[in-house]
Amino acid sequence: MLPLSFHQCAKISASSPPSCHVLEPSLEVVSCKQFEFLLQFALGFNNGIKTVTIDLRFHLGKRYQELICLYVAVCLFVINFFFLIRHFRVDNLYFIAISSIFGILTADFLSGLVHWSADTWGSVDLPVIGKAFIRPFREHHIDPTSITRHDFIETNGDTFAVTIPFMLHMSFKFTHFTYDQIRDTYNWECYIFLLAVFVSMTNQFHKWSHTYFGLPWYIQLLQKYHIILPCKHHRIHHVAPHETYFCITTGWLNFLFEKIRFWSSLEYIIEKTTGHKPRTDDMKWAKKID
Ligand SMILES: [Zn+2]
Ligand SMILES: [Zn+2]
Repeated sequence: MLPLSFHQCAKISASSPPSCHVLEPSLEVVSCKQFEFLLQFALGFNNGIKTVTIDLRFHLGKRYQELICLYVAVCLFVINFFFLIRHFRVDNLYFIAISSIFGILTADFLSGLVHWSADTWGSVDLPVIGKAFIRPFREHHIDPTSITRHDFIETNGDTFAVTIPFMLHMSFKFTHFTYDQIRDTYNWECYIFLLAVFVSMTNQFHKWSHTYFGLPWYIQLLQKYHIILPCKHHRIHHVAPHETYFCITTGWLNFLFEKIRFWSSLEYIIEKTTGHKPRTDDMKWAKKID
C-alpha cells in the first residue's frame, strides 16, 4: 500500500549519468544481481558514481525496513506459537476458540476503521499522513489491481511491523512469567496472537481478493468459505463512492455493519459535530486525477 513501489521506482541503468535518477515504472521483480547493483549504487561503492539520489536511498531504506520487520515478526510468531502449544490444555479448548474468534473479529474491525478513516476523511495534501497514509488508499480505488503487482515484502512489511511490539511483549511474558501466571493469561494471549496474525496478513488477504487468476487452490478454498476476504465480497466496496464494506481482513463484520449502518452513523455524528462532510476531498481528488 505504498504510494510508490520499490520496484516501480528503482529501475536504474548502469549507463545513467551520475546526477540523473531514472525512475521508470517497472513491474518486474528485481533479481539479486539487480538488487546488489542498486545497493552498491545507493551506498556509493560503484566506480564513478558518486551522486546518490535521496529517492533511491529512501526506497532502499524502506525496503530494508520492510524486510527486517517481516523476518523479526515471523520469528516472534514462531516463538510465541511454540509457547502457546506448550501451555495448551484440552479442557480450555472452548475458551481458546472464543478468544481466537474475537482476535480475528478485532483484526477485521481495525482493518475497517483504518480503511474507513483513510477513505473518508482528510486530504492527500495533508503533510506526512496525506502522502504516506491517505494517498495509497485513494489510489487503490483508481487502480485496484496495482496491489497485485507488489511482492510479498512490499505488501506485508508494514502490517507485520505493527505486530512486533505486541509479539515481543508476549515472548517476554512466556519467558519470564511463572506457570500459574501464564495459565491465568493464556486465553488473552490466544486473543492477541490471532489478532496479530490476522492484522499482519490483512494486506495479503486484500491483495488476494483482487487476484482473479493463478491463486493456489487452498487460498481459493479459504475465500470460498469466507475464512479470508473473498473477491466477490470485496468488490462491493469498489463501487463508487466507496462508502461501505470497509473491513478487509476477513470481511465478517461487513454484513453486520451494513445492517446497523455503522459507518454511515459514525459519519453522520462526525459531520454534525465538526461540520466536515465525508469523502468530499476524495471525490475532488479522483476528478483531478481523471
Ligand atoms: Zn477503500
Ligand atoms: Zn480493494
